Order: sequence, then C-alpha cells, then structure tokens
Amino acid sequence: MSWKVSVEATAFNTGQFPPENEPRILEIAMAGRSNVGKSTLVNAILGSKLAYVGATPGKTRSINFYRVETGTVSFRLVDLPGYGYARSSKTDKKVWSQLTSSYVEKRASLVLVCHLADFRHGLLNNDRLLQEWLSQQSKPLMVLFTKADKIAKSKRRATLQQYVKDGLISTDVPIITSGEDRSGIDEARAFMVRYLQGLAV
Ligand code: GDP
Repeated sequence: MSWKVSVEATAFNTGQFPPENEPRILEIAMAGRSNVGKSTLVNAILGSKLAYVGATPGKTRSINFYRVETGTVSFRLVDLPGYGYARSSKTDKKVWSQLTSSYVEKRASLVLVCHLADFRHGLLNNDRLLQEWLSQQSKPLMVLFTKADKIAKSKRRATLQQYVKDGLISTDVPIITSGEDRSGIDEARAFMVRYLQGLAV
C-alpha cells in the first residue's frame, strides 16, 4: 500500500520544528554517519524522492520532518543530519550539532531512533559512539543495516549474527535493507507501522 508523504518542515533551529501538541504526532528518527545511505533509504521507505541523495557529506545540517499517512497510522519520519563528520571521532566528541543532540534528548514526540549502519563495515567507531550515546538517552534504538546488496544473500545471516555477538544494541531484530535492490524496505515500513500501533494500545 502506498504511503502519502510530504515535507512538513526543514529545521535549522528548534523554532522551526513542527509543534508537538496539535495534535500529537509520533516521530521516528533516522540517524547514521554521513554517506551510510540514509537519504537513499529514507526515499525508499517513503516511496518518494524527497530526501536529497549524494549531498556533500556533512552538508545537510537541517533536520527534515516528513509527514507520513500510511492508511493505518499517521507519523513523522525525521531525517537527522549525518553523524560524525568530524575527522577524528576519537578526540572530537562533538560529532553531532547541538540542534540534533537536543532534538533527540528533548523531543517528547520522538518514540524511536533508527540507527543506520553500513552492513559491510561492521560497527565503525562512529557507530559505536552513536550506539552508546543513543542508549544513554531514554529512546529505543532500532538498527537498520544499509547497502545489503554488497553482501551475498547467503552470507547475510552469519554477518548479522556476528554483529549481535559484537554487542550490537537494537530493540528488535535489525532489518537488513538495500535502497539499491529494495530488499528489506517493505519489512522496514511494516516494522514502523507495527511499532507505532504497539504504542497506541
Ligand atoms: P547519506 O549521506 O547517508 O544520506 O547517503 P546517500 O543516500 O546520499 O548515499 C551515499 C552513497 O551511497 C551514494 O553514492 C549512494 O548511491 C550509495 N548508496 C546508498 N544506498 C545504497 C545501497 O543500498 N546500495 C549501494 N550499493 N549503494 C548505496
């Protein structure tokens, strides 16, 4: 079933966030390091080319709010700026803007943060930092792997098991996606709907 989607806000400061209470619309955020394939996945999930793919890494500083009507639920998919553009993530702790950090920390409507990680690379330093930071916030964290088309189908299961062994934090079984061959997209969409419906009861 196709979703009805539109851009609701492009925010460079908190004053540009959509109001939270009129009425309350729940939000699912998409987070990941720059170039992980976030824009591609956001577009694939939305079924619409609203997110700008291939922007110079680190350039997209705004938080983009997409309004989604699935037919059963209404929510916002929130595209956060790429995480960890700073060269040395070890020494530079401030890998996310103040705006993004405070959005995740304070936004009451935010019910789930999807952490996008490249399926090929294992958990990079940035990914670990992001996982640690997100797990300190009181927000559930769900892993969506990207670029799965780069890994043979026969190897995907073992690769996923290795991530779990390595201490991956995820509120549910991570979903393996590819914007290229569209694997996992329907699964990710169904997960979001199910997750939101689960909160409503
Ligand atoms: P973002 O910076 O995280 O928003 O990443 P983009 O969506 O702009 O993608 C970064 C690069 O990865 C682009 O060159 C994309 O074509 C490529 N890419 C994104 N998704 C996939 C995927 O699922 N498979 C493959 N093979 N490449 C992808």
